[in-house]
Formats: sequence, structure tokens, C-alpha cells
Amino acid sequence: AARLKQGLAKTRDILNTPVSGLFAGGKIDEAFYEELETVLLSADVGVSATQYLLDDLRSRVKRDKLDDAAQLKQALRDGLQTLLTPLESPLSLSGHKPYVIMMTGVNGAGKTTTIGKLAKYFQAQGKSVLLAAGDTFRAAAREQLQVWGERNNVTVITQEGQDSAAVIFDAIQAARARGIDIVLADTAGRLPTQLHLMEELRKIKRVIAKAEPGAPHETILVLDANTGQNAIAQVKSFDDALQVSGLVLTKLDGTARGGVIAAIAKTRPIPVRFIGVGEQLDDLRPFVAKEFVEALFE
Ligand code: GDP
Repeated sequence: AARLKQGLAKTRDILNTPVSGLFAGGKIDEAFYEELETVLLSADVGVSATQYLLDDLRSRVKRDKLDDAAQLKQALRDGLQTLLTPLESPLSLSGHKPYVIMMTGVNGAGKTTTIGKLAKYFQAQGKSVLLAAGDTFRAAAREQLQVWGERNNVTVITQEGQDSAAVIFDAIQAARARGIDIVLADTAGRLPTQLHLMEELRKIKRVIAKAEPGAPHETILVLDANTGQNAIAQVKSFDDALQVSGLVLTKLDGTARGGVIAAIAKTRPIPVRFIGVGEQLDDLRPFVAKEFVEALFE
């Protein structure tokens, strides 16, 4: 929890410090709500989630006749926790073998890093993992994955000159032949012609289903929390094209824009499976709403 708190330090500074200051003022008037609105918007909570939180706070103040700062702050926390709780739904591996996870996200979001972290996470649970180097458009991504795999004793299926869908298809067959538990399939985050990215990803998804009926069992979108409201646009377009089943929100450390998670909850409440709070392999943790809100406010 200390680590999470440290990771969320910047968002906490932008939320908690002004919020505490506001509440310390003691007066709950329109000016108070207006200032709170500004604080929430500047932490990238987004317009509709901010409106929701303010309305929720007003009704809690009325209903429970709140008047002191500590009660009010608690009420805001409770409202945020209520908003975020529906996003809390841990990944369950549900007995499929191999369990195929399709990893998507724009370049730079932290997809490759997250794949490494996930491999480590699953291995720590005694699961065998195979990586499919499906980001065939970026040689560096393939190499990065291969180096990482060697270092951590994880098989990486990669083929030069093959297209992404073919690499992933072969990887799934290899996983089945070897009795592997989990396949993590990397995909491109950008194509030479960006226009066709969604089409390409849809094709990969279809090919995965051909390689393993019922797969992918999980379609993850990796999002960089620093991108703020732009992350919301990414959620919409990837979800519209691919039906995303889970999100990973990376780089929550070092951003003051962690409030974007509230905006996600309000606009497209897809489960946040994991959050990334650093560059190290163990800086990935399942999303727990209560823990998250506590780290923000304590
Ligand atoms: P990709 O292009 O989506 O595969 O992105 P990468 O995995 O290569 O990550 C881009 C950069 O973000 C790298 O420098 C990573 O170390 C960094 N990164 C990824 N996840 C996190 C995180 O949770 N916290 C921090 N601070 N950096 C991260």
C-alpha cells in the first residue's frame, strides 16, 4: 500500500492538497463547490465524472447533514469509491488452456513493459507463459520482447517477415503443443498507415479465434494515464472496434492525471484489470478501488 501511495503521489498532490485546503476553509457554499470542480477537472476527472461527484457530494451533505471538513472529505472519498468500484473486476483465468490474452494499445502506452510485467505476475502464480511478438511493424518491439524473454526464461515466438496474425496463430499452436497456460499476444500500436490499425487488430482477433475457439479470452487495452482525456478517446475507439474486456492503466506514478480513471468509470466502465505504478517488473498491481482511493486521500 505504501508503494501505491508513493506511485499516486502526484495525483494525490493535485487532489488531496487542494481538497484538504478547501475543506479546511470550513464554509460549504457555492464557491466551495466551484473550487472543488476546478480541482477535479485539473486532475483529469473529466466533465461528466466531476458533475457526478459534485452532485453526489451535495446530496450526501444534505442527507447526512454534514458540516465539518473531515466528514466532507470522507463523503467525497465515498463518492469516488462508489464510482470506481464497478471497474474492480480481477482477471480470472477461467480454466481455458491456453488462456489467450490479446494486448493492444497505441505506441508508447506501455504495452511491451506491461507484457513483461504480466508474464512475471503469472509465472509467480505458477503458470507457464508464452509470448507472441505480434508487433511486427516495429523491429524494436520484437527485439525488446525477445531480449526480455531470454532474460526471464519465457519462450517468445517471433518470425521475421511474417504478419502479425500469422505469428500469433503459430504462437497459439506452439502453446497448445507445449501445454502452456497463458499466451500473451502483442500487437502493433501503429502501422505505417495509421488508418488501418483497427482493421488490422480486428483481423488479428478473428485469426486468434480460428487458432483457438473461444479466444481471445481477454482483450486488453493498455492506456497511458498521462494522456488524460485522450485516453478516453482511445478507450472508445478500441472498444468500438474490438470489444475490449479489460484495461491496464500505466504510468500512474509520475502523473497528476490519475483522475482519468473516474472519467473511464463514467464514460465506458470497462474493468481496470491492473494499474502500472512504475517501470520495474513488480510495479503492476490488480486494481482495487478502495486501495486506490485510500492512496489518493491519505
Ligand atoms: P509500448 O510502445 O506501448 O510497448 O511502450 P513501452 O512498454 O515500450 O513503454 C514506453 C515507456 O513507458 C518505457 O520507457 C517504459 O519503461 C515506460 N513505462 C511503462 N509502464 C510504466 C509505468 O507504469 N510507470 C512508468 N513510470 N513508466 C512506465
